[in-house]
Amino acid sequence: MYYKLPVELYCEKNCILNHTDDIASIGKSAYIITGKHSSKENGSLSDVENALKNRNISYKIYDNICENPSIENVMDAVSKAPSGCDFVIGIGGGSPLDASKAVSLMLANPEKSSDFLYEKCISEHLPVVTIPTTCGTGSEVTPYSILTIHKKRTKSSLPHKIYPALALIDPMYLNSAPASVLKNTAIDALGHLIESYINANATNISKMFCNYALSMWKAIPYILKNNIRNYEAYELLMMISAYAGMAISHTGTSLPHKMSYTVTYEQNVAHGKAVGAFLAAYVKNADIYSCNHILSLCGFASVKVMADTINELCGRIKISKELADKSINDLLNNPQKTANCPYTVNEEVLKNIYKESVIII
Ligand code: NAP
Ligand code: ZN
Repeated sequence: MYYKLPVELYCEKNCILNHTDDIASIGKSAYIITGKHSSKENGSLSDVENALKNRNISYKIYDNICENPSIENVMDAVSKAPSGCDFVIGIGGGSPLDASKAVSLMLANPEKSSDFLYEKCISEHLPVVTIPTTCGTGSEVTPYSILTIHKKRTKSSLPHKIYPALALIDPMYLNSAPASVLKNTAIDALGHLIESYINANATNISKMFCNYALSMWKAIPYILKNNIRNYEAYELLMMISAYAGMAISHTGTSLPHKMSYTVTYEQNVAHGKAVGAFLAAYVKNADIYSCNHILSLCGFASVKVMADTINELCGRIKISKELADKSINDLLNNPQKTANCPYTVNEEVLKNIYKESVIII
């Protein structure tokens, strides 16, 4: 048995204000990494600025992280870092949080070029504080940073493990999120739980997080379909996402995530929606015990009900046969991408998952 999660985590109202001292204990000069708009609108950026000003911590803001950030986007942020900054604060959805981890890696290794991002080696990084404002990626606790690689026309996780030092979750930041962002990211969290449970690396501890959070997920379709907007709903969404992050920190994700990356790159489909499309078929192909266990924990009467619920929340995806074939060949040619799947993955299985998951045109 092995489990590691070296992240200090708090989840509460006014989380930043309440944990100003915890932020101050991390460093003296911060580099804030965030997206273009949302952190200014939901109050998270001003909360962080106030906390830093209160403790005389100098800071600079980079507010140009795009959705599904690329290597170039990260390197632009690195090139604009203030000299002498000793920690990084990521604020936003998974995109700015993942970018903040990659920036922290590059700032601790200033002599390296962007190739270092994907170099397999033991590495140092600056401490990272993560402040999530979406409810799906779990990036606030995971050691992963997933970047878009334009040269390969896909996305890929860095081989470096960059655990945040401190994660501060204030569920009220979700109040400004459009329903589509809540839906897509909640489905991403469901994907993390399912892919972590049905995973070659799963252990009793990782399954413990999955079991608990999958049973909490039962309430989510009602909350999303009825657009319930209150603190309790936001806290539930945020905590499921964090538990799911704890689960995948141990196991990694599996086929639906790997299949989603090409769809997101080629068709600009939101991450959670792209993952969600493949979930029901992934569950259906698993052993009968895991399939029934997941369905009953989440409260789905069948795999079809699960697929219908996801489609109703996020919408269906259409992709061309060429793109499906390209994605299948890519997975078949890279066995490490399918290694986390505990059942046999061959051309027939992948073709069936595609056929059942997306509309092929
Ligand atoms: P995102 O790409 O971070 O954000 C999506 C959109 O939501 C952006 O337009 C953003 O606006 C907006 N937004 C964020 N918070 C908001 C709020 N509170 N109110 C209103 N709008 C808000 O979406 P995401 O799904 O959270 O992250 C996806 C990324 O995470 C992908 O790159 C995926 O690969 C990665 N991911 C990482 C892990 C991991 O373990 N590290 C796991 C799964 C996925 P702004 O751009 O203006 O901020
Ligand atoms: Zn995900």
